[in-house]
Amino acid sequence: MNRRKFISVSCLTGAVTLCADTLIAFGSPEAGDGYVMTVCGKLPLDKMGVTLPHEHVITDFTGAEKIKQPQYERSSSFKAMLPYLLSAKASDLNTFIDCTPAYIGRDVILLKQLSEATGVNIITNTGYYAAADQKYLPAHAYTESSEQLAARWMKEWEQGIEDTGICPGFIKLGVGSGALKPVEQKLIRAAAKVHLKSGLKIAIHTGDGAAAVAYTQLLINEGVRPDALIWVHAQNDTEGEFHTALAGKGCYVSLDGFNKDALAIYCRYIKNLQAEGLLNKVLLSHDDGFSVEKKDGDIMFNQYQNGNSTPYGSVFTILKPALLQQGVSALEFDMIVRGNPRRAFKIEVCGVG
Ligand SMILES: [Zn+2]
Repeated sequence: MNRRKFISVSCLTGAVTLCADTLIAFGSPEAGDGYVMTVCGKLPLDKMGVTLPHEHVITDFTGAEKIKQPQYERSSSFKAMLPYLLSAKASDLNTFIDCTPAYIGRDVILLKQLSEATGVNIITNTGYYAAADQKYLPAHAYTESSEQLAARWMKEWEQGIEDTGICPGFIKLGVGSGALKPVEQKLIRAAAKVHLKSGLKIAIHTGDGAAAVAYTQLLINEGVRPDALIWVHAQNDTEGEFHTALAGKGCYVSLDGFNKDALAIYCRYIKNLQAEGLLNKVLLSHDDGFSVEKKDGDIMFNQYQNGNSTPYGSVFTILKPALLQQGVSALEFDMIVRGNPRRAFKIEVCGVG
């Protein structure tokens, strides 16, 4: 999985003019009912606070069904990751959305331990990742129907992941570039079924803008509203060709691979969306994280080499001041990092008691 190549899409209503009322309606702690599902259970929306919508604690890129995961002793991964989460918490991060899917090292017990130890809310996911030449798809993704796959993911939602009792807070898929492959279409149809029953939102890594447009239409055909979709790694649409079109339809446009070298292009994407009155559809994150590596029999956790020397922080330390200088107001930035994730991941249908 190339961390810089994740995408997903969404499309819904028209442009919204930003004003105080809009910020209250879309971004304030008072906004609406509903909740998000964290690894520690339901969380009221007004407790989400500052949220990073696309990060990773630990990933394992060995490939689906090749080894038993996790490969590590959980106590060592906990010890390794704790300082980074504590540091992010000290920088005002309240909610961390972990986008590592099953078969790429999803470890919900570790996430819960870290959440309990740090006070950072952590949200995990259900669903399968079909990008990267389907290296992370289990064999049954090919043999089962979309109904059968949906039943597996619904079971995680209703009963918890494996025997942990920990529920996913959204559906995470991954697809490649251009036209959707048959297996990708099947996974998307399965996600639509789960969304319509559970209310879980759908976030999809996508290789390029064309694929994002394709699956947005497919999901609409399956009865999913575009505002239930999060276009993960919208920066892979390098010219931003589809950003305003899909945000204008209601999709959340997740610019989630920020690092200092991407400053100019991120500012341009965000200013373009601001000019169209679509900042209420923008999500910002780093796609930071650590991968499991085995060397001489020892397990190590290596930070992604993605341009961020310190994980989970440069959106606030580098991007925020640049945006404020370029005419994005503090209120608008606050909406992007607090209000937008709240609406994007809000669960409106109660599927669990
Ligand atoms: Zn990622």
